[in-house]
Amino acid sequence: MLENAAIIRFLFDTIELGKKWPEPKELSEKFTANIKELFGFDEVLIKEIKPNREGLLPSEEYAINTVKPYVDNRLSSYSAFPELINYYNSGYRSIAIFPLSADNKPIGLLEILSKNEEKFNQELMNALLLGVYIFSHQLSSRSEREKAKNLAKYFDASFESAAPQILVETNGKIVKANKSMLVLFSKSQADIIGRNVKELFSIDGNMLASLSNGINAEVNSYDGRSFLASSNIISKNLMHAIFIENTERKKLNERLKTFELSNLEFLFELDNNGKVVWISENAENVVPQADLMLGRNLIDIVIEKDKLNEGMQKVPFSMPLTLNLGNSVVNDVVVSLSKGWNGYSGIISDNKLRRYAEVLSSNLDEIIQNTSDFVLIVDELGYMRGLNRSAEQILGYKKEEIVNSDSSNLYDGEAREGFKKALEIARKDGVVRNFFANVRSKNGEVVPSYQTISRLIDQSGKLIGYVIIGKELATKRKIEDLEDMLAEAKRNEERFKGESDLKTQFIYNISHELKTPITNIKGFSSLLQKGEFGELNEEQKEYVKIILEESERLMQLIQQILDVAKLSSGKIKLDLQEVNLSKLGENPSIKALEEVATNKGLIFSWNVDYNVPEVIADPNRLIQVFVNLISNAIKFTEHGSISVKIYRKGKNVRVEVTDTGIGISKEDQRKLFRKFYQVPKKGLTKQEGAGTGLGLSIAKEIISLHKGRIGVNSEVGKGSTFWFTIPIDLRKKKEQQN
Ligand code: ADP
Repeated sequence: MLENAAIIRFLFDTIELGKKWPEPKELSEKFTANIKELFGFDEVLIKEIKPNREGLLPSEEYAINTVKPYVDNRLSSYSAFPELINYYNSGYRSIAIFPLSADNKPIGLLEILSKNEEKFNQELMNALLLGVYIFSHQLSSRSEREKAKNLAKYFDASFESAAPQILVETNGKIVKANKSMLVLFSKSQADIIGRNVKELFSIDGNMLASLSNGINAEVNSYDGRSFLASSNIISKNLMHAIFIENTERKKLNERLKTFELSNLEFLFELDNNGKVVWISENAENVVPQADLMLGRNLIDIVIEKDKLNEGMQKVPFSMPLTLNLGNSVVNDVVVSLSKGWNGYSGIISDNKLRRYAEVLSSNLDEIIQNTSDFVLIVDELGYMRGLNRSAEQILGYKKEEIVNSDSSNLYDGEAREGFKKALEIARKDGVVRNFFANVRSKNGEVVPSYQTISRLIDQSGKLIGYVIIGKELATKRKIEDLEDMLAEAKRNEERFKGESDLKTQFIYNISHELKTPITNIKGFSSLLQKGEFGELNEEQKEYVKIILEESERLMQLIQQILDVAKLSSGKIKLDLQEVNLSKLGENPSIKALEEVATNKGLIFSWNVDYNVPEVIADPNRLIQVFVNLISNAIKFTEHGSISVKIYRKGKNVRVEVTDTGIGISKEDQRKLFRKFYQVPKKGLTKQEGAGTGLGLSIAKEIISLHKGRIGVNSEVGKGSTFWFTIPIDLRKKKEQQN
């Protein structure tokens, strides 16, 4: 947020600069130095542009053609114009480019640069625009004078300048006039020579004397046009006078419009006697019925007369005052005044509005605008000053339709009194929370709502208004319903989690208990088989073999159930390490499977792409997955090959185990990873098909603990590819590169 003081100081200084009619160079230097110093910019440049120069830079062309300032608050190597990218490369982060013009012709650009981002906000831009305008005006008046000086020297040579000019004796007798002057008064040279300038302009003796002393004067022609007259003294009795029609003010107004000058301040001029002679068109935004100021003396409008009188003694000044325009009293405006060409120039800014603006334009604004709550800002008397988008939607009013109206009108019937009371309480206590009120939308609909009113005070503790935050009841109910649902879901989740924890624990315990008797069965059977209790006959041997095989299967099943229980309890901790996947192929379990495959007449291959980085994983758990996938592949493949491919895919390492086996139907593919799922056996001998249906669900748990994904592509009769991914730890990768 910008200091009010810096802005006022800047505008003052700029106005002051012109009073001294410095050389353009000096004027420019002081102007740019001021901007740099007052607002803390790193570089301020004025670039001259010759009106008809060819090959303008793109940014110059933009500024000249649009007559609008160009702002880039985040210069980057993608900025719109190549020049801007150069600035970015030199360390600048924001830029504003203002077109400068004189006599309606572009003469240059003002470039303001900062090494910080987001340097230009609306308020600063408005202030700079005003300054730039005043500066341009001074430059152009100046340039007229410059030209005139030359013309005075070579007077006969040309009268090119568009400004009406005359050579005139100090007593007012016209010696010569240029073409513009003749056009202006529709006269011929012969008509004009020898006439007194007083016949053309309403100039009195004093003015003429001032002019002949080189002092500027504002003069009117008899047809009511107003001109700024300035002069160069050529000799004791002869001067050269230029008359610049005062259309600049019109231009100023045009500009103020184009640039959407804030509602916070307007410009005005006083004549030497203190009479208001001009106000900028946006004055109405700050002071209602501002036109009433025109023609009146400032002192008559201001309530604090002594204070103003005192101020007038030491212009320039800037002070808070109260204006009384008869019909309306406008308090809390700041009047800033400086000596102008022919009287005074000043700015009146609305301090109150400025403070609202500050409240609104702080970061809060973002939040206020985006919340689903409706937010109204009202002043201390209860008049609407602002509202957010939700309020616009709910109430059906556009901001401009409702601002400045009495906010209590928004309340329906009895609610109106309640609202007024609530404001009263908020004023005393600071806040009134969650009171119920019906508001009425533009189309007459009654909107029930809950509202909270907080008072706004400025730094000095003075009340400046209220913020009303409301929740439409329908929305409030919806939110409450959602909150209830969420709470319910949470409770269920807890319950389920509790239940499933119990189940897991139960399974774990039972499985664990089963292990001991089975180990015993296995042990004794194997002793039986070895003949420790006497030789067995062939039939007995066959039965013992089955007992052994089945108890082995049972053991495996229990081991897997234990695994599933542990993994799905989420209590398992991975033993994370850097794992080199090409080395993993050397692991004994995998080597053993390779042998099983080759013995079955299958070709086995293990391929790891050269660019596969090490992954962070639990190597034993990964091997468990590999073993499951590879042994499944072997189990379900009669001819052909089993190939393992490991390669990098984006931010993951992808592993594929492909076989040329029986394949899996689409329907079964979807169910495979469920616990205990086995594809209904078709023509497989029991032995081959023997399994638990847990392997893939364990693999899935393990892979998801690694934050990877697992899946299958398969076609019945052609084979299957089981794949999984392990994300590459990018942080780790960086370290490795360094
Ligand atoms: P199991 O212990 O029964 O192998 P898995 O979870 O590892 O349990 O596999 C589940 C089922 O998926 C298997 O019974 C089998 O029907 C099917 N399956 C797994 N891998 C393959 C494969 N490579 N080719 C064909 N079917 C497969």
